[in-house]
Amino acid sequence: MIRLTNVSKTYGNGPTAIAALKNIDLHVPRGSIHGVIGLSGAGKSTLIRCVNLLERPTTGSVVVDGQELTTLSAAELNQARHQIGMIFQHFNLLASRTVFANIALPLELMGMDKVEIRDRVMPLLDLTGLEDKADKYPAELSGGQKQRVAIARALASRPKVLLCDEATSALDPQTTGSILELLQDINRKLGLTILLITHEMEVVKTICHRVGLISAGELVEEADVGDFFTAP
Ligand code: ADP
Ligand code: ADP
Repeated sequence: MIRLTNVSKTYGNGPTAIAALKNIDLHVPRGSIHGVIGLSGAGKSTLIRCVNLLERPTTGSVVVDGQELTTLSAAELNQARHQIGMIFQHFNLLASRTVFANIALPLELMGMDKVEIRDRVMPLLDLTGLEDKADKYPAELSGGQKQRVAIARALASRPKVLLCDEATSALDPQTTGSILELLQDINRKLGLTILLITHEMEVVKTICHRVGLISAGELVEEADVGDFFTAP
């Protein structure tokens, strides 16, 4: 579902250039939950942002659902991004919009009419446990609830892939657990492929099928989660 081949990313140029990613090969099969773990500065954020081209790789190929993204025009890329939802550490909700309106935003931008938008948003409120929060503003919500809104918004365009950029790093352990359960639920119910990056071992242990370790811009190890961690 996601295939990065020989992806490198260098920020800047000349003597101060930073090689953030070096020859990354990554394959995330359809329907799986794949984690990439690493220390701060290892290149996790750059890696996940290369999957939807929020960051453009310096070299290499990015294929999502059979489509090469690096050669698309701006309009084609915009279209392809409907297949790729993303959530962030700090949720990135719009403060001036209610929960409903935050989730509806990507659909409005797609030009969908009001009735259709309602038909899409209501089931997403159900799925994410926000039935009674539709008219609240982000400031009235807990961190976990805000991330649920962000997840619902990411699912609104019915993507095939969900990218999670340190999605639980701002949450306490209990809330983290409930968000991970929701992600697992979504993976099972919708068959969504999930790629997540994190610096937290617990996160990958809890929900990932397969894990890669990134260090200084290189994927240095990859294994099924059961083989990744040594037995106690
Ligand atoms: P992580 O998410 O694992 O903390 P990042 O992908 O954010 O790692 O960063 C990898 C390397 O690239 C770091 O050395 C970081 O300082 C550098 N970097 C990240 N973003 C930029 C940028 N926009 N401009 C220059 N350097 C950057
Ligand atoms: P981070 O918190 O990971 O550093 P930013 O604060 O840079 O991320 O946010 C990136 C912005 O890009 C977000 O506001 C997000 O809504 C937007 N964005 C652009 N394209 C996409 C996409 N395909 N999926 C999700 N968000 C996107």
